[in-house]
Amino acid sequence: MKTTVHILMGSNMGDRESYLVAALDRLAAVEGLEIIATSAVYSSEAQDMEGENPAFLNQAVKADYDFTAGELLHSLEKIEIDLGRTGKGQREPRTIDLDILLFGEEQITGERLTVPHPELLNRPFALIPLVQIDPRLVHPSTGRRLVEYLTLKARQQVTVYRDHVARSI
Ligand code: ADP
Ligand code: MG
Repeated sequence: MKTTVHILMGSNMGDRESYLVAALDRLAAVEGLEIIATSAVYSSEAQDMEGENPAFLNQAVKADYDFTAGELLHSLEKIEIDLGRTGKGQREPRTIDLDILLFGEEQITGERLTVPHPELLNRPFALIPLVQIDPRLVHPSTGRRLVEYLTLKARQQVTVYRDHVARSI
């Protein structure tokens, strides 16, 4: 059965935009994953990290997926490694970070995977690209529309870096 999933790509190291492009290419090649839409690329200052860190670029991807959330996480981790990601779990600058924001309406609490992503509602850089793709999305745990979590302050923390019309394939 197909599940509609939303993934967040992030980079704050090296040629950040090229890492997003490369990650999207690799996502398109994942077995069982069909990309439906991508958001604009957004820029924001590093949050939840020690000391001064380079700004992030983030982009959300919407896709249909044929397998389980655990299998998707495994594919994302492979792409991260391919693209030189190091320092997992250490809140360090990274070439590419691939997180599962939503996996349909599933709620998963496991050792390796929590879905919806546990920080989604605290991270404007995740909420804004997600809501750009799907303005009517509802948070599967709280039952509230995601746009309701977008405060003015949140909107001010995230700026458009490259504004292409959200792509529908
Ligand atoms: P972060 O994305 O918070 O910067 P990492 O990419 O280093 O952190 O991932 C830390 C751990 O988060 C991973 O080992 C992964 O198993 C776990 N994790 C839990 N939920 C998710 C999710 N929804 N998407 C991606 N990783 C997740
Ligand atoms: Mg991650």
